[in-house]
Amino acid sequence: MKARIQVVACKCCTQAPPLLDMNDIMSVVSDRELVVSSMLVDGICDSKNIRPVLEDARNKDVDRVLVLACQKKDFSPGLLAAYKRAGINEFLIEFVDLRDEVVLPHLGDGKRAQAKAETKAIAGLQRLLMLEPLEKARENMRTTNVVVLGGGASGRRAAEVAAAQGAHTIIIEKSGRSFKAPGVIMPNSSLTGAKGYGGNFVLTIKAGEKPEELECAAVVVATGGGWTELKGPLAKACKSSVPLYQLQEQFQGGAALKGPVVIADTPDPAGKTLAVQDFAWDETLALATDIKRKQPLEEVFVVFQEMRAFGLSELAYKEAAELGVKFVRYDRSAGPKIDPQEPTKLSVKDLAQGDVLAIPFGTLAFAAIPANKDNQAIADALRIPMSPEGGVRRGSIQRWPVSTPRPGVFVCGSAMFPKSKETAEAEGEAAGLLAGRFAMKGTIEFGGIVAEVEQEKCSACLTCVRTCPYEAPFIGAAGKAEIRVQACQGCGMCAGICPSKAIELHGFTDDQIMQETRTMLGGDF
Ligand code: SF4
Ligand code: SF4
Repeated sequence: MKARIQVVACKCCTQAPPLLDMNDIMSVVSDRELVVSSMLVDGICDSKNIRPVLEDARNKDVDRVLVLACQKKDFSPGLLAAYKRAGINEFLIEFVDLRDEVVLPHLGDGKRAQAKAETKAIAGLQRLLMLEPLEKARENMRTTNVVVLGGGASGRRAAEVAAAQGAHTIIIEKSGRSFKAPGVIMPNSSLTGAKGYGGNFVLTIKAGEKPEELECAAVVVATGGGWTELKGPLAKACKSSVPLYQLQEQFQGGAALKGPVVIADTPDPAGKTLAVQDFAWDETLALATDIKRKQPLEEVFVVFQEMRAFGLSELAYKEAAELGVKFVRYDRSAGPKIDPQEPTKLSVKDLAQGDVLAIPFGTLAFAAIPANKDNQAIADALRIPMSPEGGVRRGSIQRWPVSTPRPGVFVCGSAMFPKSKETAEAEGEAAGLLAGRFAMKGTIEFGGIVAEVEQEKCSACLTCVRTCPYEAPFIGAAGKAEIRVQACQGCGMCAGICPSKAIELHGFTDDQIMQETRTMLGGDF
């Protein structure tokens, strides 16, 4: 039976309309044989636009779809779910990313962008025709355990919400402190290894001296941040400086602070420049405001690189400024300095005015929060990516703000970068909800775009076993490589690196890639 193709293009990307002629792109692909439906819509993520697209697909018996829009990961899952409901195999939907691969790289050259977009659309169509329908399989989860790494504000909230979904929660807390939370709390323990995949993980937990294996369906990373140790040049020059939390304790304990009070976002404990997000902005605003209210005659300065006020804390910034807190923003390349000969004077170039200010102070506090040192070991164990600042990287700010790229692993709070307690708790709630629901599904879906080994060609060289970030390949009973399909994330690294060319990735076979490449190389770009 001949394919019946629908082409859908989205024009929501703000740069696309002035740069690309979407009607021309549509006509290049719509006139092709087998294309029975073509629709140009404003925002394909919007359910009101999905409805007519789907209706047309149903009316015209569409069985394959070409989507011209942005990155697949930025799409509303609603679109894929809708096509699934219409009986279209999800692996017969081809996405062409016009935003990241055409618009953004060619912003200054509309002609070039148009030619590339048209070529990519044709290549996508040709690839779509070569795709095979793929199926997913299911496996039962062995447990409803959700493991939360960290018993801080976000971790406790995550555990409460996951437990409310019916999951059994276990908090792994590295300190010996006690706190209330549902399920089990394992104090003085840490994660040292992980096997398996989302739904059926086996974690290795070091509890005291003894490693234990723990099965779980989902993991929430809630390691929090850590206050900086004062090792940088400013702290060395001013021996009486304190971290922000100590100043908070002193102030809340009733101590009158000696003014002027300076709260700065340095020093860097590791010798590198702190990134903007390493600044405890919300806590700084709260303390600066409280000091100004209680000691209105004292000057309070906040010296910072960039404001990172979340949500309503923008209003706290306004309130602090109205109370008279002075904000001095500096450029990262010219941070504040203290001459050891004058240890109570901080000099900094004010970015707004361009002047170097000399601020004499009676109290100096640092509000830097470096990433938790445990993040790297946890990310290695769970095979999840890190941000350059040392936090755990989330999946996508728009669609997956508390998920990681690995199914079944979620992240919240300052494990990503410093947050206020309220924000950390809100993220803990979201991560706990997702983890709890994930664990309570009872089954995992796997398969589709996964690797497969052609065993006759395999020389058991172990390259794929050593390369795969998810431990999916293994040497089976026949002495040849096999793929643990549940663990495979379809990244294609093994297929690219296998010296015997024994591995193929479903949905990205050599023939499919070659056809697309041939079309692209013939294009004008
Ligand atoms: S890399 Fe290729 S040849 Fe080597 S073990 Fe894996 S499948 Fe076999
Ligand atoms: S495709 Fe990626 S995740 Fe799957 S087995 Fe190969 S390297 Fe591992």
